[in-house]
Amino acid sequence: MQIPHILRDDHVSISFEFFPPKVERGWNRLFETISELVPLHPSYVSVTYGAGGSTRENTHDLVVRVQRETGIPVVAHLTCVSATEAEIRETLDRYTRNGIRHILALRGDIPDGTLEEDAWPADGFRHAVDLVAFIKQHYPHMGVGVAAFPEGHPQSPNCLREMDHLRAKIDAGADWVVTQLFFDNRHFYDFCEKCAFYNINVPVIPGIMPITSRLNMHRMADLAGGTRIPASLLKAVWRAETNDFVRNVGIHWAAEQVRDLIDNGVAGIHFYTLNHSRASLDICRTMGLKSFLNVPSVVTAEEGLTVEA
Ligand SMILES: Cc1cc2nc3c(=O)[nH]c(=O)nc-3n(C[C@H](O)[C@H](O)[C@H](O)COP(=O)(O)OP(=O)(O)OC[C@H]3O[C@@H](n4cnc5c(N)ncnc54)[C@H](O)[C@@H]3O)c2cc1C
Repeated sequence: MQIPHILRDDHVSISFEFFPPKVERGWNRLFETISELVPLHPSYVSVTYGAGGSTRENTHDLVVRVQRETGIPVVAHLTCVSATEAEIRETLDRYTRNGIRHILALRGDIPDGTLEEDAWPADGFRHAVDLVAFIKQHYPHMGVGVAAFPEGHPQSPNCLREMDHLRAKIDAGADWVVTQLFFDNRHFYDFCEKCAFYNINVPVIPGIMPITSRLNMHRMADLAGGTRIPASLLKAVWRAETNDFVRNVGIHWAAEQVRDLIDNGVAGIHFYTLNHSRASLDICRTMGLKSFLNVPSVVTAEEGLTVEA
């Protein structure tokens, strides 16, 4: 079943994003995390894709393994930066052979130390829209999602051009949209209104990531450049006396965001997990939804304080 069909079911879908660990120990821990999240019945999970060679292999292996071991549909992220058409084809062929049917088509960012001319090979793809069109033409069995940025992508010349570029990705065949994380739902609602105005009628899934420590807040600010942290959240984080209290602030804030999003009829919630289960479990429990209440507690001492690179 394709993601938009899964999302059109009458319940609110939840999904989780993971990244491929770099070390063996991280893989074991990740599979524990996944098994802790499975009882929440995610509609799908997604796996990020890095620019380097071994990272790409790890994404492929993780995608295939998660789908095989859990039976949960997996969305494989795929970026086109620094990749030739032949490399993209090879990746898509392998996914096809392994029964993967969902791709999040992204441009990606130029990796540190990569020259501009190497980032865009002559026979590669310049923008995500080109990758979407390529997949839809040559791999019509693949469902394709794309990224969007409710508060604007840092490299967009202006918000009107950015909406044109998103519209182009939908015209090229994208089936759904997942957003960058945000802390103020008003940005998401405004973005959804713009999508409706631009006749973008595919599901738009909000991406949620709670602050779990001050360190993680700084990393999020780096990673999600355009995302604003509301003053009231920032003040609450700085008022919190211990890292546990910071965590409580972050979970409370994210749970309120999720409650409000569900009240406003979103089709799904996509959690950026950083390969940890605890925050997503706490948010779901805090919301008090019946199906979330039977999930056992899995709190570990160091979780939420460490972010694996
Ligand atoms: C949900 C989500 C998941 C992500 N997963 C990953 C991941 O797994 N791996 C990873 O490396 N990165 C990932 N990223 C980061 C993403 O790759 C970067 O933010 C990247 O800069 C933008 O990707 P995009 O697909 O939106 O690119 P695009 O849609 O190509 O847009 C990038 C910029 O180019 C502009 N643009 C688009 N089309 C055109 C055009 N035709 N002409 C001129 N300008 C144009 C856009 O307005 C925007 O400013 C993710 C981001 C999100 C929101």
